[in-house]
Amino acid sequence: MILLTNDDGIHAEGLRCLEDALSSLDEVCVVAPDRERSAISMAITLHQPVAIKPHGSYRYAIDGTPVDCVHVALGAILEEPPKLLVSGINHGANLGQDVHYSGTLAAAIQGTFFGLPSFAVSLVMEQGEHFDTAAHVALRIAKSILDNGLPDGRLLNVNVPDCPLPELGDIAITRQDLGVYDARAHADADRPTHYWIGGERQAPADPSNTDLEAICRKCVSVMPIQLDLTDHDMLKTLTEWF
Ligand code: MN
Repeated sequence: MILLTNDDGIHAEGLRCLEDALSSLDEVCVVAPDRERSAISMAITLHQPVAIKPHGSYRYAIDGTPVDCVHVALGAILEEPPKLLVSGINHGANLGQDVHYSGTLAAAIQGTFFGLPSFAVSLVMEQGEHFDTAAHVALRIAKSILDNGLPDGRLLNVNVPDCPLPELGDIAITRQDLGVYDARAHADADRPTHYWIGGERQAPADPSNTDLEAICRKCVSVMPIQLDLTDHDMLKTLTEWF
């Protein structure tokens, strides 16, 4: 059994395409939020119960977050742990700093916390919305993970450029783009007391081997992520401070 989830909601086209592609590999179970929950990161519902609503065979909508979906899938729906968790196909990029805000990544991180081989897959949408291309890539990544396994505490962040499959470049193994967003909130045109959050992605000084650079070359970005946030290089420095 392969567990699928996302942060765009159970009705999202990206999830449907992922489901179709991975069904060729194994039985799939979809446990996804009942609505759009993008950019919600690792939010978890602790102060009220979440409801499960069946949406067909092995499909369930949860009135909670992507992280809630993984908890409910493992704790209440699946009788045994899935062999793989896939989160996506997200409607939009998860490059660079996006990783910290992403509900798509959060679900895959939660899977990794639970010891499941997990990856997130996102379509860097422009105009074409080639979810079929991203689904093709997701199937290939899923096979590789099932063949090779993932080390403890590691997951993959996969981004796919929005192009027809024949135009797709190679798989690039990447590091995280360290560019920042222009973070100035800007006033709503009609309500000057209301502000929009977010801004334009800024180009990094050194783009070599980054996820963003791979996408610009129409390549698939596969970035390994580790959950240990400790800065091991700084341990010694800090010890000298105190
Ligand atoms: Mn999303």
